[in-house]
Amino acid sequence: MTPGVRPLIAGNWKMHGSLAEAAALAAAVQAGAAGAPAAELLVCPPFPYLHLVAGKAGPDLAVGAQDCHAAPKGAHTGDVAAPMLKDVGARYVILGHSERRADHGESDAMVLAKAEAALAAGLTPIVCVGESEAQRLAGEAETVVTGQLAGSLPEGFAAAGGVVAYEPVWAIGTGRTPTEPDIAAIHAAIRAHLAGRFGKAGEGLRILYGGSVKPGNARAILALPHVDGALVGGASLVAADFLAIAAAL
Ligand code: PGA
Repeated sequence: MTPGVRPLIAGNWKMHGSLAEAAALAAAVQAGAAGAPAAELLVCPPFPYLHLVAGKAGPDLAVGAQDCHAAPKGAHTGDVAAPMLKDVGARYVILGHSERRADHGESDAMVLAKAEAALAAGLTPIVCVGESEAQRLAGEAETVVTGQLAGSLPEGFAAAGGVVAYEPVWAIGTGRTPTEPDIAAIHAAIRAHLAGRFGKAGEGLRILYGGSVKPGNARAILALPHVDGALVGGASLVAADFLAIAAAL
């Protein structure tokens, strides 16, 4: 954890749930949020449920989206613009998740353009970076991650309190995580990059770890230096597990 920084525990619901399940999950997380005051809690439902979930969230629970388009409006069938997300109550938007990079061919340049759109709309971007297993085995994890940061963080990122999420691709949904020293090493490299680029403001930005965070490993991971919260996938779909991760701080 970084001293003086309020950690963020973010739930990435991905493409899961029904309207009724989203409502119930949001209500259960909201009900438990006041019991975990050390962390800021955030849930990121699928687009169709965003408005409903935002309506259920109180001051202890923020709501975010999982992507946005780089343009504020226009002829982009099937896409969603950042001002629309803001309009329905989102405060954050996850950008450059490895599933978007893989499924939709999102490059660093595209993530950068989306992050600029998010900032322009008054949303806080959570920019995801992370190496593949082959890149880790080749000893390239740090180079890959800092390269992604260099290519995808916009100029106004630090001033707006932007968030970075380190998510090794091979740890997502697999039950595997890097060793604690390996997580700490990448987070230290991300911090050095942020401080080098943004100066003092970069020292206080939150760096989340994501990839198979569960109630059982959360305490050890969240205790590492420069780990300022978690981006949680599978375990965020069970309110008790998500709240247990927040309570592990
Ligand atoms: P996971 O997903 O917690 O299910 O590994 C994390 C993520 O993809 O954000």
